[in-house]
Amino acid sequence: QVSCSVEKPVIIGLAADSGCGKSTFMRRLTSVFGGAAEPPKGGNPDSNTLISDTTTVICLDDYHSLDRNGRKEKGVTALDPRANNFDLMYEQVKAIKEGLTSLLDPPEVIRPPKIFVIEGLHPMFDERVRDLLDFSIYLDISDDVKFAWKIQRDMAERGHSLESIKASIEARKPDFDAFIDPQKQYADAVIEVLPTQLIPDDNEGKVLRVKLIMKEGVKNFNPVYLFDEGSSITWVPCGRKLTCSYPGIKFAYGPDTYYGHEVSVLEMDGQFDRLDELIYVESHLSNLSTKFYGEVTQQMLKHADFPGSNNGTGLFQTIIGLKIRDLYEQIVAERAGAPAEAAKV
Ligand code: ADP
Repeated sequence: QVSCSVEKPVIIGLAADSGCGKSTFMRRLTSVFGGAAEPPKGGNPDSNTLISDTTTVICLDDYHSLDRNGRKEKGVTALDPRANNFDLMYEQVKAIKEGLTSLLDPPEVIRPPKIFVIEGLHPMFDERVRDLLDFSIYLDISDDVKFAWKIQRDMAERGHSLESIKASIEARKPDFDAFIDPQKQYADAVIEVLPTQLIPDDNEGKVLRVKLIMKEGVKNFNPVYLFDEGSSITWVPCGRKLTCSYPGIKFAYGPDTYYGHEVSVLEMDGQFDRLDELIYVESHLSNLSTKFYGEVTQQMLKHADFPGSNNGTGLFQTIIGLKIRDLYEQIVAERAGAPAEAAKV
């Protein structure tokens, strides 16, 4: 008798503009899952790359229906839905979600599902694709910060001029605002990156104020909190236990609404002088989904060379990585608890 068991993966959507930290986020995520923090040698980090036993990344750039020339001819950008094949994206993500493999294993053998991360400009744009996601993240980089990062990458590393960087950001903006930005209303977690408020009129974009916006009521996801769940708190941890040079560090936490949804928001403005002292901050956060005391700090220290490791971008990316691991493990446990259901085809 042939029985089939189906590996149904957990599907995560990760949306952001290009050059806004998606690869860095993926490296932190796979590290939390114990996988390689780097794509395999020879692999193209920008295409479908298997980066660990559990995690596979699908880059949505592969669903462009118009190539560079085609877009030029029709006068549309890659941000425009008309340049993307959402029907194909939906069909393929659906096939992955349903589990493509029919196995001859006995039905009681339930294989752990894999995690598929669908990353790119439009993972939450098409309603059909959006409904397939088990969890979704939007990296929301404010214009000032995006500009500072692009300068760093495109000017310092690629030799572009300041004017051309400005012009390319301006040219993308109408389509970005129309098609990419609105997806954040659907995200279960948003990491919002803003200029600091600790330095008056700062325009360097080096010190950042980062918000982690976490939707309430999402299955298998319990937002992180500071001190007391549901209270509104501001906290300046600098002093005897945390070394802070100018302009210091300020945390905030509390409930809010975001596009009509109830959310919890954790905010960090400023940066860490000494990453090992992050343990002091970690010990005041709850619902982190760590497996042992200090795991957030350990992850941050392990990847101290990644961009954003001394501020809220790295901290919140790491925390979301832990929450995704938790979500994944809860889904695995649920399926193991219902073997008959899981083995059904
Ligand atoms: P993407 O995959 O979205 O294109 P990357 O993770 O490769 O983005 O980051 C692109 C560049 O943006 C990095 O090389 C770095 O210069 C800058 N960057 C990304 N995240 C951060 C961060 N948290 N802090 C500072 N710079 C960052």
